[in-house]
Amino acid sequence: MSQMQEELRQKAKELLEKGEVRYIIGWGKGRFHHRPPIFIYQAEDVDKLVWDEYCVANLGKYLLDDKFPEGKIGICVRGCDSRAVVRLVQDKQVKREDVCLIGLPCTGKVDQEGRELVKCRDCMHRNPPVYDIVLGEPVEEKGNPDRFKRVEELEKLSSDEKYEYWSNVFDKCIRCYACRNVCPACNCRECFVDQYRVGWQGKQKNCMQNQIFGLTRAYHIADRCIECGECERVCPVGLPLMELNRKLIKDLNSLFGPYEAGVNPDVKPPLGEYRLEDPEEYM
Ligand code: SF4
Ligand code: SF4
Repeated sequence: MSQMQEELRQKAKELLEKGEVRYIIGWGKGRFHHRPPIFIYQAEDVDKLVWDEYCVANLGKYLLDDKFPEGKIGICVRGCDSRAVVRLVQDKQVKREDVCLIGLPCTGKVDQEGRELVKCRDCMHRNPPVYDIVLGEPVEEKGNPDRFKRVEELEKLSSDEKYEYWSNVFDKCIRCYACRNVCPACNCRECFVDQYRVGWQGKQKNCMQNQIFGLTRAYHIADRCIECGECERVCPVGLPLMELNRKLIKDLNSLFGPYEAGVNPDVKPPLGEYRLEDPEEYM
């Protein structure tokens, strides 16, 4: 058993025994190498917590299942989970005082075949930027200077080529909404795709409606996307959703200056505040 996993179980036991948290959200052992999210209420159950290279799922969004908790919720956070919680706090979906963030520096995760996940290769924050407790030692931040490379390639296409490319992508979408359901930035009480107003988002599964869904969702979370890559990881038809998210992040950075969602709780998303010097060429 890894040292970090042992430390995590010890800390979880301590927090539960002292009553500092009501329960802890972490990862547990599933079939094969799956590590589904688990909820630990009793100190005697902490040995169900797992910390290894297969702990893939972003846990932040599970906080939305208990928005008015009776007592603090302990939650294991890597860099991406920590950023997800910051975003949920900034969106007033979660109260910071309701959560105890158990930080776990992360060296990247692998898929069921042991291959490094694409989303981890592009990770900019392996250490949790915000935490209450941190276990183990900080790990080296690698970043990925090439994370916008694919976006730059797509930018070179003509308008017609871009339209054809994205039409082919969204033609395959089956509108399962897994991307939305997993996304910590998608936290509207009622999603636009679930509304039944006339002239609103169509329910048909066709290329046009799929494009409207994909593009509207991407724009809706443009300055709140934490680049966790969960949407792309869970998409059952393997759509390159991060290409779209990163295009918007790249554009926001060039328009409003360097910004990464969920890293600093005191910095608001650029589209969420108005400044006199904001660019407005389109006006
Ligand atoms: S859009 Fe994708 S990468 Fe961005 S926060 Fe949502 S799930 Fe994570
Ligand atoms: S997860 Fe993929 S297939 Fe499902 S709605 Fe999102 S883009 Fe479409």
